[in-house]
Amino acid sequence: MTQPVFRFAPSPNGKLHLGHAFSALLNFRAAEALSGRLLLRMEDIDVVRCTPDYEAGIVEDLTWLGIGWEEPILRQSEHFDDYRAALGKLEELGLVYRAFLTRAEIKRYVAEFEAGSRTWPRDPDGAPLYPGDAAVLSETELAERRKGDAAYALRLDMKAALRELKKPLSWWEGPADCSKAKNASDWYLGREVVADPAAWGDVVLARKETPTSYHLSVVVDDARQGITDVIRGRDIFPATSVHRLLQVLLDLPELRYRHHELVLAEDGQKLSKSNFDTSLQSLRSASVSVQIIESRLLKNP
Ligand code: GLU
Repeated sequence: MTQPVFRFAPSPNGKLHLGHAFSALLNFRAAEALSGRLLLRMEDIDVVRCTPDYEAGIVEDLTWLGIGWEEPILRQSEHFDDYRAALGKLEELGLVYRAFLTRAEIKRYVAEFEAGSRTWPRDPDGAPLYPGDAAVLSETELAERRKGDAAYALRLDMKAALRELKKPLSWWEGPADCSKAKNASDWYLGREVVADPAAWGDVVLARKETPTSYHLSVVVDDARQGITDVIRGRDIFPATSVHRLLQVLLDLPELRYRHHELVLAEDGQKLSKSNFDTSLQSLRSASVSVQIIESRLLKNP
């Protein structure tokens, strides 16, 4: 087996919390256990919300946790041209279209649709599937927006994309928590998961002002960095269907995926970057030791 390559890929748009620490530690421990490499990637395509200060905080937190990675750190904001190129390939395949409905227009359309007893389909994150421009806009209005300076999203034509597939889409899903693996071979006891990208509808790949989206940049960079193994939170499990689809369309290698349980707050809620009590920085200043954090996370997530 070739040497496995892991990555930790936070977005520097806030402070890391215990959930990130869990992800980072799992990747670090896995790389150690399997004599692999660990890379660090800043997913900072949102250049307004991501800041150098947050990035510095992440580096500080990881170092405090005793996590080491191979330099250099990859910053997505420095690679917009590559995402544009990947988008270009999908455009050449005829799989991308400009979608002009604003969020408010989609919301209004869905509310009207649901005013009866019908429900409009939603993606795994709970967002309504794109109804299509024609559901809301007249041909004249659409032509106006095309001609004018209207904002738009570049969406994947999901139906057309699925027609490109030569065989059913799936991915390999394995165990994420190495504290439970007795030996290295346990790491490769996985199962095949059937991917369901259609559940996401016409996903956004880029916007007029931003040449990429999370889905597009994550597959481009996992390939660019030669990542073989992804360990990340269970909340991203459904998005893996989209990632597999984009990998096939862009002719990128298939990876092994492992999605870990989420670390929940005391009240059972998902941790968020605005929840300061569990930010690593505040735990650190309250003199909570790394050992305590590690033992809580790795034995009892
Ligand atoms: N940047 C994502 C996050 O901070 C992680 C994406 C991934 O691991 O694929 O949640």
